[in-house]
Amino acid sequence: MNYTEEQLSQLRSEVEKRETTARFRHTLGVEREAAALGELLEPDSISELRAAAILHDLTKSFTDAEQIKLMRAMGLPHMKAEEEAPQILHGHTAAALIPREFPAFATPRIIHAVQVHTTGSENMSIFDKIIFLADYIEIGRHYPDCRAMREAFWNVPQDILCSSEHLDGVVRRVLENTIRFLKERQLPIDEETVRAYRDICRRSGIYPTETIS
Ligand code: GDP
Ligand code: FE
Ligand code: FE
Repeated sequence: MNYTEEQLSQLRSEVEKRETTARFRHTLGVEREAAALGELLEPDSISELRAAAILHDLTKSFTDAEQIKLMRAMGLPHMKAEEEAPQILHGHTAAALIPREFPAFATPRIIHAVQVHTTGSENMSIFDKIIFLADYIEIGRHYPDCRAMREAFWNVPQDILCSSEHLDGVVRRVLENTIRFLKERQLPIDEETVRAYRDICRRSGIYPTETIS
């Protein structure tokens, strides 16, 4: 699917109304990063990547209770995360809202990438990985881990930048960082995060260094 700049600009204004100023700045950072990654890895899908990035944190401003209420209202099945890690629900609620509120943007690729943008998933497409990585390395993120992954992705020769193995390597390290971060804080690690990490390790022929009991 291709979108015109006019469609994207309208989408931005709709989303801006629902996000705080800081969140919307992050959203635009993710859009810019997704477009840059798309130029290298998915050049025919730039406008669709931009739309997914604009929509990815659509429901981020809702409280945990509101997320759970929205899950039920939209008929989504109960998830363990509702009790253990409600901060991961916003991808699921945003994905479910897209067909209702932004039907022109309800492509399977946009919906899936938004749904899994926080945890990753098994069998991620390049489109999914671009949104997942763009969310972590967009220019507005200042945490040392995020800066390090931005460097790790961009600071390589041009031919490596375009390789899907390079993308996989950095996505794997982002998942490793997330798991390590959660373990250090003794926070529950969602099973989708674990599956995403194991799957990308297996596909890359790499032994998982982050052990998860
Ligand atoms: P944001 O919405 O742009 O702030 O970023 P994300 O959607 O990637 O992440 C939201 C939060 O979910 C971050 O604080 C992550 O550390 C956290 N998170 C990601 N995966 C997991 C998980 O498996 N378990 C838990 N408890 N938190 C997670
Ligand atoms: Fe998010
Ligand atoms: Fe985000």
